[in-house]
Amino acid sequence: MSSTTFLADARERARVLDRDDPLAFTRSEFNIPTKAQIASTRLPDSPPASTERESGDDATAECIYLCGNSLGLQPKRTQTRIQQYLATWATQGVQGHFKPLEDSPLPTWLDADDRAAQLIAPVVGASQSEVAVMQTLTANLHLLMSAFYRPDIRGRHKIILESKAFPSDHFAVETQLRHHGLDPATSMITLTSPTSPEDNVFTTAEILSAISTHGPTTALLLLPGIQYYTGQLLDIPTITAHAHKHGIFVIFDLAHAVGNVPLALHDWDVDAAAWCSYKYLNGGPGCIGGLFVHARHGDAVVGQQPRADPATAAAADDGNRHHRPEEEEEEGGGHYAYTNRLAGWWANDKRTRFAMATTPGFRPVRGAAGFQLSNPSILDMTSLGASLEVFALAGGVGRLREKSVRLTGFLEELLLLLSGGSMAAEERALFRIITPSDPQQRGAQLSLKLAEGLLETVMRELERRAVIVDERKPDVIRVAPAPLYNRFEDCVAFVEAFAEALAVARQARA
Ligand SMILES: *Cc1c(COP(=O)(O)O)cnc(C)c1O
Repeated sequence: MSSTTFLADARERARVLDRDDPLAFTRSEFNIPTKAQIASTRLPDSPPASTERESGDDATAECIYLCGNSLGLQPKRTQTRIQQYLATWATQGVQGHFKPLEDSPLPTWLDADDRAAQLIAPVVGASQSEVAVMQTLTANLHLLMSAFYRPDIRGRHKIILESKAFPSDHFAVETQLRHHGLDPATSMITLTSPTSPEDNVFTTAEILSAISTHGPTTALLLLPGIQYYTGQLLDIPTITAHAHKHGIFVIFDLAHAVGNVPLALHDWDVDAAAWCSYKYLNGGPGCIGGLFVHARHGDAVVGQQPRADPATAAAADDGNRHHRPEEEEEEGGGHYAYTNRLAGWWANDKRTRFAMATTPGFRPVRGAAGFQLSNPSILDMTSLGASLEVFALAGGVGRLREKSVRLTGFLEELLLLLSGGSMAAEERALFRIITPSDPQQRGAQLSLKLAEGLLETVMRELERRAVIVDERKPDVIRVAPAPLYNRFEDCVAFVEAFAEALAVARQARA
């Protein structure tokens, strides 16, 4: 099949798939930048610069945005909700904290954290009390480690992570170790896949085997739900269960998994997790993150001493791992115990949070909310809340995932057709997909590894065609059709532009 026949055929199939897509309607909930906007160097309200007075289709045609893994697009209702927040602040001042407005869809600012937890809980598969919308991803990783990583140099002191971890996660682990006076050379174990050392795509068995090797000396395991570079989705429940058998505390970084694949953190028995909200969750750049603390670690228990090393405790209470029935908190009685944590006033029981002059001591709220530090940015909460409304309209992550599997599968099929024959022979070896082809081992993203020396030209050529993906040097581009706003048609447009870009890049390199 020639390249043009294959694309014409793909375009026709995409048209039918989009027409029959029950979730196609959510695209209109988003601001999709036009090609002209993508090329522009000005704010949309400014008069156009003389150099960019484009005519024809391109002025209104939408760009091909496949970068929701890096920064999700802006939901239209975000502007509406932020205007409502601004109007509340403008007209109510401090009263906005506690005075509900009859016609406002927004919670009072004092309730914003509870509302946000309620909305995010189903996205990560947790009860509301197990999640807190707070801080940012890296800060939350540090807060979790400060609470749950208690190394004992003669016993458990190691932290296991992957050798190609996102730099921030790596820095967080390394500095936690140094903070405890430990040497990363002996206390940090970085995993490389023995069968795929170049890409570091793991088999589950490889991860389990590494956990077994370091089991007795490891305190903590930090892995990504979905690896940012390869797009690999790890088998979270199997890895977690195996780590627990070895008494290891398990934290997952869900930056690329949250809002992308269904999660069941409570049932999978994950100890703790953290995420950001600007990738698939479309909260906006740097928007507030979140964390999960399993009910068995988050409870502040009245009348008991603080727990011993949580890793040992996790191993010891194997039979008692599931959510304990809600106990009533005792007023004022007994010793108020909680895990070792770095605290701030927002973690404190709401009943005494504002009794500043008289509060006798720190009484954390039960659950993940007890890990909060500061009063949260309502601007962020409002933005995230607007996006989560769209997830609810779509019927939740489970429903989106069905479309996502088909959408990413379609993109993969086209790319394989491209590399498997419809390209000129010289171009076939110019890229390969490093993301696992099993849909159970990936989310929306496909990572394409280019032959050496092509990346720069390919990215430039894609941008010239208003196709937005992202690059990870030295030679990977990541392409992520997000089911909330991407169409099957976008996959075809990408593959067409990519084939052209590769041809230009090969010429340029030769
Ligand atoms: C996106 C991402 C981050 C970013 O961290 P911030 O603290 O939100 O800046 C960290 N780790 C991983 C794995 C990521 O994908």
